[in-house]
Amino acid sequence: CCFQTDFSSDKQVLQATSELSKKLVNIIAQPFYIDSLEFYVSVSIGITVFPQDGNNIDFLVRNADIAMYHAKDKGRNRSEYYHARMNEIAEKRSRMESELRTAVSRGQLLLHYQPVVDVVNGEVMWFEALLRWQHPRLGLVLPDEFVGLAEETGLIVPIGEWVIEQVCRQLQVWQHKGVAIHALALNLSMRQLERIGLVAVLDRTVADYAIDPSQIILEITESMLMQDPERTVPLLKILSERGFRLAMDDFGTGYSSFGQLSYVDVNSLKIDRSFVAQLEKEGNVACIVPAIIGMAREMGIRVVAEGVETSAQVEFLQKQGCNLMQGYYFGFPMDAAECERYIESDKHTWQIRGAGL
Ligand code: C2E
Ligand code: CA
Ligand code: CA
Repeated sequence: CCFQTDFSSDKQVLQATSELSKKLVNIIAQPFYIDSLEFYVSVSIGITVFPQDGNNIDFLVRNADIAMYHAKDKGRNRSEYYHARMNEIAEKRSRMESELRTAVSRGQLLLHYQPVVDVVNGEVMWFEALLRWQHPRLGLVLPDEFVGLAEETGLIVPIGEWVIEQVCRQLQVWQHKGVAIHALALNLSMRQLERIGLVAVLDRTVADYAIDPSQIILEITESMLMQDPERTVPLLKILSERGFRLAMDDFGTGYSSFGQLSYVDVNSLKIDRSFVAQLEKEGNVACIVPAIIGMAREMGIRVVAEGVETSAQVEFLQKQGCNLMQGYYFGFPMDAAECERYIESDKHTWQIRGAGL
């Protein structure tokens, strides 16, 4: 909406627009009913003020649009005032988007792999594939910088298919070379789960590279399971019937319960690294982690602790019966050649340091 009023000071303008936007957010946030079902609508508001944010209506509306996207990014149900830096951010974003569009075809994406180890017998169980973007100007870009954008724009679907193919291809290469890496985990995003073709893509790719589905561990987050369980639970069932293994990623950060887990044939559960990081501090976490480990054990689900960085964390987790771990303590994400050296080395540095053995 656009409204015109005469104010004697900027302060008055800000006060009036703040009050109005708060009112709008609150009114729209009220539930409404259709056939006795409760519905909610959220609103995101971008605010521009004449003349400082634009001297004509086109500029004002365009900049309000930019501010509205910031409100959406910040969690919706709120308003944001336009400021000049938003333009820079919007430009950077659209530039990044167009560069990301061609990243696959230009061969700029690559995978690094991080080991998951069993600290009791020193075995490397599998590696998790983690996406990287070798950007011509910015260097190696980590997924936190671009996966969100890829998800919003839908680009994660072709990128995710590339990941699936790359993982199968790498397993085949290692199979042929006799490298003892027999399974890889990959991360799926919600957008991929929503696509009808996911099962077909997975089926076709494992067949193309003569990979057994049990060599692929599909990581999905708890929040993905919760977002649309009616759709996701049957899909995961199909995938696990096909033989793919499922891992529940970032466990503890979402709102799922062990009850919901029992509907899905999850093979492993990854305790989020934010919990592991707090293990040595006093507080609830030191109780939550053993509870998760104990419940998972009852359900026959393997537990992997992620983000393990110190020997004290290793000791704590092992005492609680969690023997599968992943984190910088055991190895950083590395390229395929480094993985081969890692798997072939007799003793890893963490074993020399004495963790678990
Ligand atoms: P994630 O699945 O939780 O992956 C683990 C992240 O934790 C990785 O960051 C890894 O480098 C980091 N990490 C591992 N050990 C430690 C540790 O000891 N300490 C700390 N502080 N961090 C550790 P990365 O590679 O930057 O990936 C970030 C996130 O990006 C991933 O979180 C995952 O959600 C997403 N992602 C990565 N690859 C893909 C992909 O192929 N597809 C999709 N959809 N998402 C991906
Ligand atoms: Ca993961
Ligand atoms: Ca994780």
